[in-house]
Amino acid sequence: MIKKNDVVNLNYCLKNSKGEELDRSDKDQPFAYLHGMGQVVPGLEKALEGLAIGDKKEVTVSPAEGYGDFVPTLKTQVERSNFPKDVDIKPGMQFEAEAEDKRRIIFEVISIEGDKINIDGNHPLAGETLHFSVEVMAIREATQEELTHGHAHGEGGAHHH
Ligand code: ZN
Repeated sequence: MIKKNDVVNLNYCLKNSKGEELDRSDKDQPFAYLHGMGQVVPGLEKALEGLAIGDKKEVTVSPAEGYGDFVPTLKTQVERSNFPKDVDIKPGMQFEAEAEDKRRIIFEVISIEGDKINIDGNHPLAGETLHFSVEVMAIREATQEELTHGHAHGEGGAHHH
């Protein structure tokens, strides 16, 4: 049964409310994550808690428990002078900034108009109700090293070492 600090292997498919497929796990290699660490959206993590190997589940996740509501004010235009001088700003680049409530927000550069830069701090899936189909492929206890790093290692996990 999935519980905090388990490494879970999942097959999943993610669709939006229109039924369009947004993402799915690799056919040959289930996605691996460390449960209870916020590596999957809160609504999905909650739904996976307590599932066993072989369980399949359809999970609907509201924006609030997914990638957040779409916040229009996060889509805005800022002066070039707000960015580091030595960086060649291009669409698609991401920057971290601090919001008024002190939360760290990742902004993506959308376009550049002279000295004005259009940015969007919404997650690409903000405002979307998420429809996951999941199948639990494996569950094991995390190793001490994985707990220290805060993520799963091995097949389907982090490959940084
Ligand atoms: Zn690691």
